[in-house]
Amino acid sequence: MASATAAISGSISSHSLLDRDLKSAQIGNLATGVKFRESSLRKRWAVNVMEPGKRNDSVAAASAVADLAAVVEEKARALEKEVEVADYEKTAVELQNASPLEIMDRALAEFGNEIAIAFSGAEDVALIEYARLTGRPFRVFSLDTGRLNPETYRYFDEVERHYNIHIEYMFPDAVEVQALVRTKGLFSFYEDGHQECCRVRKVRPLRRALKGLRAWITGQRKDQSPGTRAHIPVVQVDPSFEGLDGGAGSLIKWNPVANVDGKDVWNFLRTMEVPVNSLHTQGYVSIGCEPCTRPVLPGQHEREGRWWWEDAKAKECGLHKGNISEDELQKAGVNGNGAASMNSVNGTTDIFKSQDVVSLSRPGIENLLKLENRQDPWLVVLYAPWCRFCQAMEGSYVELAEKFSGSGIKVAKFRADGDQKPFAQQELQLGSFPTILFFPRRASRPIKYPSEKRDVDSLLAFIDALR
Ligand code: SF4
Repeated sequence: MASATAAISGSISSHSLLDRDLKSAQIGNLATGVKFRESSLRKRWAVNVMEPGKRNDSVAAASAVADLAAVVEEKARALEKEVEVADYEKTAVELQNASPLEIMDRALAEFGNEIAIAFSGAEDVALIEYARLTGRPFRVFSLDTGRLNPETYRYFDEVERHYNIHIEYMFPDAVEVQALVRTKGLFSFYEDGHQECCRVRKVRPLRRALKGLRAWITGQRKDQSPGTRAHIPVVQVDPSFEGLDGGAGSLIKWNPVANVDGKDVWNFLRTMEVPVNSLHTQGYVSIGCEPCTRPVLPGQHEREGRWWWEDAKAKECGLHKGNISEDELQKAGVNGNGAASMNSVNGTTDIFKSQDVVSLSRPGIENLLKLENRQDPWLVVLYAPWCRFCQAMEGSYVELAEKFSGSGIKVAKFRADGDQKPFAQQELQLGSFPTILFFPRRASRPIKYPSEKRDVDSLLAFIDALR
């Protein structure tokens, strides 16, 4: 393994040097080109301002030239950024089939002490193991939000001792935490969403950490989130944060395990006998803050254990918000701050399409709400066709509808995203998608299905208990 690693390292290092040289040559050429244009523009401007009969105020001319120089400078910077973006897009394609070890080696070789691994205390410990295997020095930082599980703190300590490293902890600003907790309490995120608390406890400390770096390494994987991580490349110009030089494009983000399945990460950790967070043995897959993370059941997606009271598409804490495209945010009915938007959703293929599932319009469900002496019970799913969890329960819901066909129990759906979302939140107890309601016979208020088990048997048990 060591010699294989050394061989990989050797070949990678020379590639890196070559690549870096090529890059500086490209940027140099561009910059030279821009400087040339700048100097000819300066000359042209100088000739114009001194022409007889025209304005010859030398102060005004100097100021105009300075303005022009600033514009040219700005343009040069923009061009350099374009080159940088294109450069890393090329590198991402080049490394698409590379191993995590190779990608890690490339990242550490290229950025040295100006890159650090972001470690959350979960299976992203694999990044630290890969870094160790490269034989290169590396830095690790972690966000201590103050709300982590005790097991995670003990695990940080274990990792420090195992690798003989010091994790660079980043803490939230005490004044900001105090203001948040004093005005809104300790659990405001259950009421108005996790974004505000995450901004104070995670995003701002992360922003501070990244301002001291030129690149960072994350454990993001495509298979981690149904809605937000499906397209992450192995390396990219960070779409959200700034690095040491400041400004958009000043930070590079490496995702060495982007293309690796979760089970392969676990095989790697087992093979290498890497210590893992004891929470994993209690059913936790994804690990974050204690109040916002819970174990998942076999078959449940790991992200269902995070911010489970919110929509699936909004489940990024802000650390990787750039993963969510504007288009996806629009479709999810969520704006850039994570708040619900009023935009309606068009052009998405509908789901729960069955002759046994009644499609309710807004007046239809309003009538159902008004009926106090209902003759037949109704089961209604409030859904959004783009929601992966709604899509995942489509089979069992349609099967249930077929079972109840002609039985007197009506099975229906109401599309509750976009313009209908505020109404559904106020009148229909919509928290996240899907929400399932049972309208009993002769009772006015619907009863919300409390579980996330959406198989036929669980739904049947719920209906049998209430009808
Ligand atoms: S995960 Fe929860 S507790 Fe942690 S920072 Fe975000 S909202 Fe706050």
